[in-house]
Amino acid sequence: MDKQLLLDYRYLRMARIWAENSYCKRRKVGALVVKDKMIISDGYNGTPSGFENVCEDENNVTKPYVLHAEANAITKLARSNNNSEGATLYVTASPCIECSKLIIQAGIRRVVYAEKYRLDDGLQLLRRAGIEVVYLNPDDEEKLKDNETESTK
Ligand SMILES: [Zn+2]
Repeated sequence: MDKQLLLDYRYLRMARIWAENSYCKRRKVGALVVKDKMIISDGYNGTPSGFENVCEDENNVTKPYVLHAEANAITKLARSNNNSEGATLYVTASPCIECSKLIIQAGIRRVVYAEKYRLDDGLQLLRRAGIEVVYLNPDDEEKLKDNETESTK
């Protein structure tokens, strides 16, 4: 398997594990920002710092102030000494249009995502900004590895 693809699968797998930190019940999403093979930021969907750790209201509707994983990862960088210029974002779900705007402005050059969503306006916006968008299914990683061992026999 190509080295970059192997890394992409690994980081995406890590983003998926990171999503487990989310206390949101309806959906858990994880994101990692990687630059020069270093994880410079991470995020999962949740309420802003200092708010209650509950994402849904009494009707099980996601609260409007819940931040998406990508937004949390990018805004975390704003409080750090790192910057995302030229970085890759790994996210376990396809970015929405609001997060896509942030991804573009953060100087991120590649987005690797796992789960497709019915709306793809976010992905379209990213492509329009010249960002490389890669879809990977983390469950395919093992299959690919198996094929590789098979072919080297
Ligand atoms: Zn979003």
